[in-house]
Amino acid sequence: MKKAVYPGSFDPITYGHIDIAKRALKVFDKLIIMITVNPNKTNALFSAEERIEMVRESMKECMDRIEITTCEVLTVTKTLELGSHHIVRGLRAVTDFEYEFQMTHANRVLAKKVDSIFFMTDNEYSFLSSNTVKEIAQFKGELKTFVPACVEEKLRQKFN
Ligand code: ADP
Repeated sequence: MKKAVYPGSFDPITYGHIDIAKRALKVFDKLIIMITVNPNKTNALFSAEERIEMVRESMKECMDRIEITTCEVLTVTKTLELGSHHIVRGLRAVTDFEYEFQMTHANRVLAKKVDSIFFMTDNEYSFLSSNTVKEIAQFKGELKTFVPACVEEKLRQKFN
């Protein structure tokens, strides 16, 4: 069984993340969505538990092939622990490339066996990030084209 890990902050999950996860599921039998919890990043809006819940609800029609976990160690360390050699990442625009290029090479030095696989998002989501969504929510803007209803609801609660 081919399984891959999809790491990210998912703070919160957006239609951009979902688009990448669905593309990955066409290639891999199983996808482990790994919510990275960085103790140095204290600016997360949602707790790990809230992020897990939103991922579970947003991806509910694919949950038979998805696992959700958190990660507080190096991504490659946890990827190997989970018995996978593949990391899935999404590319929006060239601006993502430089960061991903550095991360992939660093990961390769750390764990030769682990490779990264990139999927390009649908054009529709190429501008979309969790930060954009949080800013829109903060100013009470329209969210339904960016996030599923369950995420929209959580964002409304946070900013009310
Ligand atoms: P990180 O903090 O690791 O960048 P994110 O949750 O922001 O975590 O993103 C996780 C992964 O999903 C990254 O590879 C990112 O490029 C990708 N991603 C996020 N939003 C989109 C989007 N709109 N389209 C495609 N990929 C995306």
